[in-house]
Amino acid sequence: MSKWQDIKALANLRARARLAKSLPEIFPKAVLSRAYNSSFVPPMPRLAIDSYWRAHPIRADRLARKLAAESGAPSGWTWRVGGNRKSGLPTTFRIPPAPYREKAHARGAGFCCVCGQPVYRFGWHADLWETGPNKNANWHSACVVAWQLWNAPSGQAKLLRRVQGRRCTLTGKRLWKDAEVDHRVPLFRVWGEFRDASWPQLLRYWGLPNLQVINRESHAAKCATEARDRQITRSSAAVTA
Ligand SMILES: [Zn+2]
Repeated sequence: MSKWQDIKALANLRARARLAKSLPEIFPKAVLSRAYNSSFVPPMPRLAIDSYWRAHPIRADRLARKLAAESGAPSGWTWRVGGNRKSGLPTTFRIPPAPYREKAHARGAGFCCVCGQPVYRFGWHADLWETGPNKNANWHSACVVAWQLWNAPSGQAKLLRRVQGRRCTLTGKRLWKDAEVDHRVPLFRVWGEFRDASWPQLLRYWGLPNLQVINRESHAAKCATEARDRQITRSSAAVTA
């Protein structure tokens, strides 16, 4: 073994011992098995949960949308943009709508600002320990990862390529190195045409159902068509106005 491997093995041995020591009696099995098999063993339960979701962004996306569906939108809420830090309204339509991040609808300590559901120990979404919501938490560990995927999907290009069998969804050809992550339904159209869809169904447009990886040249062609459509929509709006 190289010196580096020795150091890593020793660090993992220590982390494993620390994790075992701080582990509560009840702990999600899948998280634990991933933690012990990681190439860098997380030394604390909270870190084990975070690293589990980081390794499974698609699961996190699905779970965050499922939790949001349990909350539903607050009554009277509509999707608005153009806010500031104070109001918590998103500044552009590119940011996924999140009513519970808005000041007017925030549920307060112990509730997730993305999905609106209670956050339990270690940022988990179910009260396995029957200790009630964690009053110091505002995010589920899963919702942090989902939020990152929704806001910066190109960070998961590698995973998305794998999900679609490394084929361009537009042409069916093999994906090139320079392939890009794209929203099937572009976000400007979501804002323009589907703005009144219910929440959290809207979140599908930021999640896996609306993400694809396409070759750069197909992406450029798709963008050109979209720009033309946008132009037509604008000019017809001008005519009817
Ligand atoms: Zn959440």
